Amino acid sequence: MPDKTLICKDCGKEFVFTEGEQKFYEEKGFTNEPTRCKECRAAKKERFNSGRRQNHESFNSPRISKY
Ligand SMILES: [Zn+2]
Repeated sequence: MPDKTLICKDCGKEFVFTEGEQKFYEEKGFTNEPTRCKECRAAKKERFNSGRRQNHESFNSPRISKY
């Protein structure tokens, strides 16, 4: 499978969907091609992770304060 050039949905820039990544997607069973470039994917993941961490802390803190 050759590398593919795709357009990022978020920033509109071209990015390469490499042969290795295509293989990775296939192994994971993903049938869709990525819609975002690496940077936008990383930014989205970071936002998701930090939001999740904040929620987790706020869920736990009332229990901790009882001690
Ligand atoms: Zn992008």
